[in-house]
Order: sequence, then C-alpha cells, then structure tokens
Amino acid sequence: METINHYIGGSVAEGTGGRFADVYNPALGEPCARVALASNEDVAAAVAAAGAAFPAWAATPPLARARVLFNYLQLCQQHTDEFAALVVREHGKTFADARGEVARGIEVVEFAVGIPHMLKGEFTDQIARGIDAWSMRQPLGVVAGITPFNFPVMVPMWMFPVAIACGNTFILKPSERDPSASLLHARLLKEAGLPDGVFNVVQGDKAAVDALLDHPDIQAVTFVGSTPIAEYIYARGSASGKRVQALGGAKNHMVVMPDADMDMAVDALIGAAYGSAGERCMAISVAVAIGDAGDALVARLAERTRALKIADGMADGAEMGPVVTLAAKQRIEKLIGEGVEQGATLVVDGRGFQVPDRANGFFVGGTLFDNVQPSMSIYQEEIFGPVLCVVRLPDVGSALELINRNEYGNGVAVFTRDGGVAREFVRQVQVGMVGVNVPLPVPMAFNSFGGWKKSLFGDHHAYGPEGVRFYTRHKAVMQRWPNTASSGVEFAFPQMK
Ligand code: NAD
Repeated sequence: METINHYIGGSVAEGTGGRFADVYNPALGEPCARVALASNEDVAAAVAAAGAAFPAWAATPPLARARVLFNYLQLCQQHTDEFAALVVREHGKTFADARGEVARGIEVVEFAVGIPHMLKGEFTDQIARGIDAWSMRQPLGVVAGITPFNFPVMVPMWMFPVAIACGNTFILKPSERDPSASLLHARLLKEAGLPDGVFNVVQGDKAAVDALLDHPDIQAVTFVGSTPIAEYIYARGSASGKRVQALGGAKNHMVVMPDADMDMAVDALIGAAYGSAGERCMAISVAVAIGDAGDALVARLAERTRALKIADGMADGAEMGPVVTLAAKQRIEKLIGEGVEQGATLVVDGRGFQVPDRANGFFVGGTLFDNVQPSMSIYQEEIFGPVLCVVRLPDVGSALELINRNEYGNGVAVFTRDGGVAREFVRQVQVGMVGVNVPLPVPMAFNSFGGWKKSLFGDHHAYGPEGVRFYTRHKAVMQRWPNTASSGVEFAFPQMK
C-alpha cells in the first residue's frame, strides 16, 4: 500500500517515527494508503530546514517571491482535477465540490501575488527637524499551519501562500485523514521555483502538533479545526511565546423570516446543510423558522432531503458523498438517536443509509429534525454531518437571542425581503460572518475569514489583510543624518521642536 510521507527541505522524507495511520477511502470504507506519523526528530528536521531557508527567502525581494507564487497559481489551475480527485478519494466529497474547494484556495494565491503592495510601509517626512519616520512590516521567521480534514486543499491555502509571500518559511501539518494534497502542494511549489526549505510538510497526529507547539524556533501557529483542540493550541502555543490564531468549530444558524422567498430559502438550506455531507465549518446546521414560515419550510425541506442524490463522490450527478470515517458516521447516528430520545420530531431519518455497490462506505442519509429545542444535544453539539435542525421561534428578536447565546459564532444568515430587519440583524448578531439572503458568507481572499466567540481564539482572522498582519511584524523607524540636524545632549524625553 502507498505510504504518504513528509516533505522536508525540498524532498520527500520517510522520517523516523516508525508509526503509521491508515488513510481511508470513505466511499469504499477501506484503506487506500497509510500515512507516516512524525516523531519529534522529524519535526525538528523540518524546523531546521525552514530555519535555514528563512534568511535568504526573507531577503528575496517581495516581487521575486510573488513571481514564484504566480507560477504556482498557474500550476494549481492546471492541476485542479488532480487535487480534486485526491480530495474525493480521501475525504469523500463530490468531485464538483472538491473542484470548488480548489478554486477557493486558488483565490488566496491570487491575493498573495499582490502582497508586495500590502508590505509597503508608511513614511512621514520631517517628524521633527531633520528627522524622518517610517513603518515597515517584516516576516516573523518559521511559521506553522495545522489543518483539519474537511478542506485538505483549501484550508492550507488560507495560510501558506500569505505566509510565504510575506517572507516567512512554512511547515504544514495536515490532517492525517486526508494527507495526500499536502504533497501535491509541495511538488507544485517546487516546480514553481520555490527554494528548498521554504515549504515543508510533517504528517502526523497529536505528537507532531505538540512538537510544533513547543519548538522554540517556531514564531507563529495558525490552526483550523474543532473548538476543544483550537482552545488547546491557543493556550499551549501562547504559553511557549508564539503568535497564535486558532479557528474552531461552529453551529451556524439561518433565520427564515415569513416574508422570505421560500424557494430561495429552501435551495439555500439544502445546499448549505447537506453540501459536503454537512462537513463544512460554514455549513448551516440550524434553520430558525420565524412565525408561520415553519410549516411551509419543513414540508419543502422534507421533500428535498429525501430526494438527495447520495453516492460515491466520483459518481455522475452525486450531490452528497459519505462522511469521513466510520467513527464520524457512528457519532452522527448516535446524535440522531439522542435527538429522538430528547423529543425532537425526526422528519427524515438518514441512519442506516445504503448506497448500491458501496456497502461498506461511511454514508449517512440527509436527516431533518423539526421542533428542536436549545436544550437538546442535537442543538448544542456541532454534529458535522448531514443533519439539519429546525427550531421554531415567534420573532426575529428571539432568534437573535438564541444565536447570541450560542457559544459558537462562525457564520449566520438571515433570509428576508425586509431591509430594516436585515440591517438590524447584521448590526446585532454576535457572529463573525453574516449573510443576508446568502447562506454561506465565506469572505473572498481579499477580505478575511474568521468567527467570533468559541469559533476563533486569537486576534487576527485568516488570510486577506488580517493574514498579512498576522504573518508580519510592524517596525517603526526614525532616522536623522549628522549633516541635517544636531540637537546636542537632551536629558528630557524627546519632543518635537
Ligand atoms: P480536529 O480538531 O480533530 O483536527 C484538526 C487538526 O488538529 C488535525 O491536523 C489533527 O491532526 C489535529 N489534532 C487532532 N486532535 C489533536 C489533539 N488532541 N492534539 C493536538 N492536535 C490534534 O478537526 P477535524 O475533525 O479535522 O476538522 C473538523 C473541525 O474543524 C470542525 O469542528 C470544523 O468546524 C472545524 N473547522 C473550522 C473551520 C473554521 O474556519 N473555523 C474551518 C474548517 C474546519
């Protein structure tokens, strides 16, 4: 069976860990490869390679760095289908969805190609007599990214194109569930002309993550994954003096007002709840039906949920594939059982779903609950599967109260024709990314992505201008020359004269 290894200093490396994990094809329910799990020594080797590459890369003119990324951008476009096929094989999402993921990742490279423009400082002439001042942003050094299984191509691309364009060197620790895309990134970056050591990959699990968090030569860590791990990464990374941004889990609500365009709202909910089998951090998992919107909404959702085309992600016309692991399938089905026990109305039951010729695949059918209460575990937990919960409330005020009480604050949407309702909703909701008649308001690459509350730990959102700030340090400079001014000895704190 194929072994997926590390990538250190410009070459694939077997590593010294001696431990491996199976990588599954979730549609078949069987292993398709194994991945090496890094030891402390492997992580140290990657940090050493990235550290050695840093001075020359940081000294490379920003435009020369951007040109390498421009080559990489073109290679990504040429290899979109190769990336997408790897994603389908190890993650399970549909091929069309995987191509969309690659396209959204490429957008960050497009942004990164223009980063020289954002690295310009500000200059003030004559802040005092004969003295000028300016600011500049400089790279941090070796930085690391730790990524989740659900976007194995795109989420790493939220990080390394920005970090590298800013002059840092990078170590990626991808999810051990779908690690292959990381090596395709490495191969294409090398082909694009990236010097060895600027981009490295260590495969692995908690041991590799802890070694990265504790390593004194790593300056910053970006994490994307579940909330308990994000909280842990933030605490441990910060304790060892690193700059950390840790993006966590989500429970995203979509409020449907009685005046909403119901066809539009139903289409939006079906795509946002069941696309990628609900395994998106921006997936809508709670529909909040206001007033008499509930009956019409649930009737139409039920019909559409039952009609979902669930198949191997490579099958023609597949709308939804399997979930990522057997453990995920079992956890989701257990939560569905708890929803029933706790009194929610199970309108469509996706448990025990079978796909012909894929008897061992990790499939869960689209599941729809009505009359869900905030006290139920299906409301409280991030299910991360194809399960949509409908909560019925009397008005938008109680919807805002519910959403603002929720511990997560990643994405939210409101569907209405009333501009005043939408405006107040946007202003009052305690969530980082808000859609008005848009179910998945994922910011474009030139904006920045991030949630509030337990969906993000740290000060900066990901990619876009916030990413540039995260991966650089601000430096303020003042300068004078002996022939322009001399003030003599000054014992009082300097002031402008
Ligand atoms: P996860 O937290 O299990 O794993 C994420 C990364 O952390 C992986 O690389 C994994 O190897 C590592 N990891 C796992 N357990 C660890 C531990 N105990 N100690 C140290 N490292 C550990 O997340 P996942 O299941 O891969 O991804 C799904 C989660 O990611 C969901 O909660 C989803 O909402 C979240 N997510 C959030 C965003 C966002 O932008 N906020 C984006 C994508 C996914």
